[in-house]
Amino acid sequence: MKISFSPPYIDEDVIKEVDDSLRSGWITTGPKVKALEEETEKLLRCPACSAVNSWMSGAILSLRWLGLKSDDEVIVPAYTYCATALAVIEAGAKPVMVDIGEDMTIDTEKILQAINPHTKAIIPVDIGGIPCNYLRIKEIINSQEILKLYTPNSDNQDKLGRIMILSDSAHSIGAKINSQSVANYVDICVLSFHAVKNITSAEGGMICLNLPTPFDNKELKKWFRVMSLNGQTKDAFTKNQLASWRYDVLGGGMKCNMPDVNAAIALAQIRKYDYLLKERKRIFNRYNSCLQKFKWTKLPFETIENGEDSHKENIESSYHLYPLRILDINEQQRDDMIMKLAETEIATNVHYIPMPSLTVFKNMGFDISNYPIANKVFKQEITLPLYPQLTDEQVDFVLENLIRVHDEVVAQK
Ligand SMILES: *Cc1c(COP(=O)(O)O)cnc(C)c1O
Repeated sequence: MKISFSPPYIDEDVIKEVDDSLRSGWITTGPKVKALEEETEKLLRCPACSAVNSWMSGAILSLRWLGLKSDDEVIVPAYTYCATALAVIEAGAKPVMVDIGEDMTIDTEKILQAINPHTKAIIPVDIGGIPCNYLRIKEIINSQEILKLYTPNSDNQDKLGRIMILSDSAHSIGAKINSQSVANYVDICVLSFHAVKNITSAEGGMICLNLPTPFDNKELKKWFRVMSLNGQTKDAFTKNQLASWRYDVLGGGMKCNMPDVNAAIALAQIRKYDYLLKERKRIFNRYNSCLQKFKWTKLPFETIENGEDSHKENIESSYHLYPLRILDINEQQRDDMIMKLAETEIATNVHYIPMPSLTVFKNMGFDISNYPIANKVFKQEITLPLYPQLTDEQVDFVLENLIRVHDEVVAQK
């Protein structure tokens, strides 16, 4: 039984929506993108969402909007995909990495220690679809002690008057805290619609704006649209209307708009969000109910359910990943388990190689020994396949083989 890791959800409705775009005579940014933005605004109950071609470009544009200088710092967790820190570098500032807690989300007390007058933003990562402890992060950035350190050096930093929270919500579309989406807890929430994510447009991203007054999120949405099109004041669709050729270019933009043909894929999926979430939850719970009886497992986000971590009340995951930890093995044995699972055609993955272990960040002076929890979690982690198309039978097949290869690998030692 061949089980892939995270194939996209492509049903007849997706194909119909793409077909509609292809036959409409308009395939780049236009009505499908507008519809996808509106569906995302509805799902997240967010005042203004602006589509782009990836999480990465959404994060870069957002940080450029904030106006970072070369000695400005942005705090990120060490345990995430490289894009989280690379976006900061691309926006012209310095990433500052901090360790995670046992629940795999950013350690909020480490954030507190890392803040200094250069700190202009924090990018918490909702890993696997679990929202970070935004209540605590907001408390930190709004405390008198931290507000006193804040030293704005751009107009928007000045207007905001405090450190900005930009969530890396690449995994957490639809995840909730107290029945509200992550977008409601942060200034800017950036989603990814990359092919492996819960909702996908093959490649894509969404900037979800929830900035406080005096900012006008609906006006800002227009700014983001312009800046995702080379700073050009009219998108190609509008310019294509009869006698609507004249435009201006304001400058400072990127070319990172989302095409309609891509938006069509995500549009058909997001309309079924509740169904897709229910199916993900089914698989997640099936893994949990089998694996909880073994002493060698640490279930994903177990500390959350056991209340060991303070932010766990009323959290709803988007069930993006199943990052299992295996407590009685070393890194080599973990790799062996993955290899043995691959021999039975079961694809698994590791989330994540901590950023300080990657060459690009090592060359910048980051050292994994400063991130002990991230390093420990990495060595014990195997992510199991999790997507709506998986049948119960397939899930049981993964479980059977996981237990078998674990016992084999442990016995060999
Ligand atoms: C996928 C992912 C990204 C990057 O998303 P793109 O849309 O490919 O740019 C960023 N952060 C995390 C945590 C991710 O998993």
